[in-house]
Amino acid sequence: MVEKKLWNEKMETLSREEVEGVRLRRLRKQLKYCYAHSEFYRRKFDEAGFQPDEIKTWEDFRKIPPLMDKEDERQSQRESIERFGHPFGIHLCCPLEKIVVAKTTGGTTGLPTFSYSFTQNDSGRWDEGTARGYWLAGLRPGDRVLFCFPLSGGWAGSIVKTPLQYMGILCLDIGAETPVEKIVEYANVTRPNVLMSTPSFAEGLIEAYPKLTGKPVSELGIKKLLLSGEPGVAIPSIRNKMEGAFGGRWNDYLMINSEGFSSSCTAKEYQGLHEVALDLSIWSDDLIDPDTKKPIEVKDGAIGEGLITSLHREGLPLIKYKLGDVIQVFTKSCECGYPGPGNRIKHIGRLSDRLFVEGVGVFPIVVRDVVTSFTPRVTGAMRVVLTEPPPHITPPLKIKVEYAQGVEQSQLPDLAREIEDRMFQLYKVQSKVEFVPPEALGRVTKKTPLFEEKYR
Ligand SMILES: [Zn+2]
Repeated sequence: MVEKKLWNEKMETLSREEVEGVRLRRLRKQLKYCYAHSEFYRRKFDEAGFQPDEIKTWEDFRKIPPLMDKEDERQSQRESIERFGHPFGIHLCCPLEKIVVAKTTGGTTGLPTFSYSFTQNDSGRWDEGTARGYWLAGLRPGDRVLFCFPLSGGWAGSIVKTPLQYMGILCLDIGAETPVEKIVEYANVTRPNVLMSTPSFAEGLIEAYPKLTGKPVSELGIKKLLLSGEPGVAIPSIRNKMEGAFGGRWNDYLMINSEGFSSSCTAKEYQGLHEVALDLSIWSDDLIDPDTKKPIEVKDGAIGEGLITSLHREGLPLIKYKLGDVIQVFTKSCECGYPGPGNRIKHIGRLSDRLFVEGVGVFPIVVRDVVTSFTPRVTGAMRVVLTEPPPHITPPLKIKVEYAQGVEQSQLPDLAREIEDRMFQLYKVQSKVEFVPPEALGRVTKKTPLFEEKYR
């Protein structure tokens, strides 16, 4: 039997024109549905001054300003807890008893958001959209996935495993909160060929595995790495390190507030995330200027904030949802030959992380990008040191960098100058590098912080 090329040949090979037809039909239906079934959306649409019936074209839709963000989502949840005794928010559009999946996001600050709450149909929609991305990233039925995202507390990380079963893939879910020696023991008997985790966890495993077993991590037999949960995983030096250590290929995918189905492909050079389910949601085609919030033309190379709109969702559809992520959009076809009509997306950074050094905007991810381009002379671990509350920084921007094993103290001043020069050449930002010994910044298995906040 010839292996199929795509997960969903029918939907992923529609022409742009065909898919736009499907989208516009579904968009108009979704807007009417939200207006009819939720007080929240009635209020929001009225405030923005439009009625669902008035949205007849793509241009009509693009003119609508952003309608909600995470804080609105939280406020909506607080209101539904108070008035209706459930945490899903007054933007819930279906009867409460139809919700069969309830997963929260992070919740490190304040009330966790129940964005990953689905009806039975939404759950199927999620599995379908996600499966297309997994397929593009190289997952196939029969794979065995070592699943090392944090699983505890109903966190949304566990939701990314349901599409595996949908595809016929074994999920060995152990969770990142398990002590690493237990994970290694478990992996040695279950013999997975895929690792799904954050990049930080995968990096930690490269160092922990030899210490525990006396063998290199490549002995584990992991041939595919599907890493997510942290932005900026597209850094070539880190990718090379991962692929070299595991002896496999690395792809990433991004799940953003239960929408935005996307995954990187198997092209040799990183090409960004392909949008794989234009029929299920809108993301990179609804781009706004991060500062003025006005629409930006979506053309090859455009940079802006993408607004999320659900298509074909019952429980908690999102409409014009402002994520606070800045992305770059590529519309030209990719060398991998993926035929889908969607754009490719590179994640630039969280808007809330953006710093201004003498008025020049810079994302910590690009600072990390510059630092890691100096491996193997540096380990790649770094922090942006903040001695005053962000975002406005008095130059120079302070960067703490781990030098690598074997680098002489006498070589450090020149290396610092090289890094500072490259920061200035590429981003016109004055910086000051301070070196610390290898592993001085510690290693974590969840999310590696980008900042050291000294002003607190
Ligand atoms: Zn591609």
